Amino acid sequence: MSEATHEACGLFAIADHPEASHLTYLGLYTLQHRGQESAGIVTAEGEHASSHIGMGLVADVFEEETLGKLRGNRAIGHVRYSTTGSSDIINAQPILCEYRRGWVSVAHNGNLINTMELRSDLESKGSIFRTTTDSEILIHLLARSPHVDFLDALEESLNKLRGAYSMVIMNDQYVIGLRDPLGIRPLSLGRKGDSYIFCSETCALDIIEAEYVRTVEPGEMVIIHKDRIESRFFGKETRKAQCIFELVYFSRPDSIVFGKRVHPARENLGRELARELPTEADVVVAIPDSSICSAVGYSLESGIPMQQGIIRSHYIGRTFIEPSQSIRDFGAKLKYNPVRSVLNDKRVIVVDDSIVRGTTMRKIVKMLRKAGAAEVHLRIASPVWIEPCYYGVDTPERGKLIGATHSLEEIKKHLRVDSLHYLSIEGLLKACEGTHEEFCTACFSGKYPLKWNGAHQFGSLSKKVVDAEKHYVHIDVEPSDNA
Ligand code: SF4
Repeated sequence: MSEATHEACGLFAIADHPEASHLTYLGLYTLQHRGQESAGIVTAEGEHASSHIGMGLVADVFEEETLGKLRGNRAIGHVRYSTTGSSDIINAQPILCEYRRGWVSVAHNGNLINTMELRSDLESKGSIFRTTTDSEILIHLLARSPHVDFLDALEESLNKLRGAYSMVIMNDQYVIGLRDPLGIRPLSLGRKGDSYIFCSETCALDIIEAEYVRTVEPGEMVIIHKDRIESRFFGKETRKAQCIFELVYFSRPDSIVFGKRVHPARENLGRELARELPTEADVVVAIPDSSICSAVGYSLESGIPMQQGIIRSHYIGRTFIEPSQSIRDFGAKLKYNPVRSVLNDKRVIVVDDSIVRGTTMRKIVKMLRKAGAAEVHLRIASPVWIEPCYYGVDTPERGKLIGATHSLEEIKKHLRVDSLHYLSIEGLLKACEGTHEEFCTACFSGKYPLKWNGAHQFGSLSKKVVDAEKHYVHIDVEPSDNA
């Protein structure tokens, strides 16, 4: 995507493996694209839990010595991009807490939509929150549950949550992976020998040479006991609402999410695009990297050769300082550079996965024309983005979405392209081999699978400034007397 929207988080968990912390580190490393603000691992050895979390990338947060201190054969891990709660060490996950029945650790991907109601209610009853995330609410609900049995307490607590949540949870007895009843965010189950694994995407299984077992179903919690695996359903819905944008953009093309392979789905997006509006051109060019699979599909379907007409630098940090206000477009140029020999005098089909604000795309089109492109035909491998996401994806407010505020003709003029086509919603579903009853398409259709009472309920969705300084927190929890 030429403009960043961000996935909120990546999850990994493993049970019953002597190298739990190291494998979790590798899993998180592979899921780094899902969140780059903070990373954390909690391990368990019998009744003892250890946690290490820090701000920054996985490779910066963990060192060999740190991983060595994370003892135990069970672990859960998290990489985070903040969509609720500020980007601060206090909000980094997994959350590890002690309460009257022992310790519990939670890592969450998604956004709850009844955060304010639940939090106000809990605070009025005396709860004191440690973080500003929605994820902590589950811990308070668990602590207040009258159920002595942890799994009963968890089930009761989950039934109070509304919104998007895939979670991995650990206490001194279990490692649990679960998805909300609509299954908005992904979570898969894998296996390595006798060890079970949960991960947001299956590329994290490949890296540790584990096999994919299946997706965790919407409304299901899969419980890894010391000697067995159990499946329980805690919530029922008549439909699913899996985030279709996972297949369009967020997930890695070498992954399986929601039980579907991402690469063929993405290639199909390009094929559908080519079928919907056949266009004469000389070359197909992708906006790297996320649009490459769709561009391949477009090229295969249309018979127009694909070439690398734009080079992307992979060495740009999260932020950079523009040396002078007068050097416009500097940011786009740092990230992308055109290949003149591919573009000069050519009619170019440019494939991107989506347009959010349109600012970067305008700069890219200008860059392509400067490099000699005779015509620029922009093809977007998803429908027009008209609404914000409230389920765990960082998107701007509606007024900043170019698709919500401008007609197609206005967007075409603004971007200065010769033609513009967005994939239809039906084309999107066809490419992903899904239906309206299976996928959430709310950002494109405005049909939200869960209603809410107001935008304030989601907390701040705006991107927070990341403190470049590194912060680490290391915690060890010994079993307490009142557990
Ligand atoms: S609104 Fe869009 S980005 Fe958000 S969950 Fe639905 S499909 Fe995904």
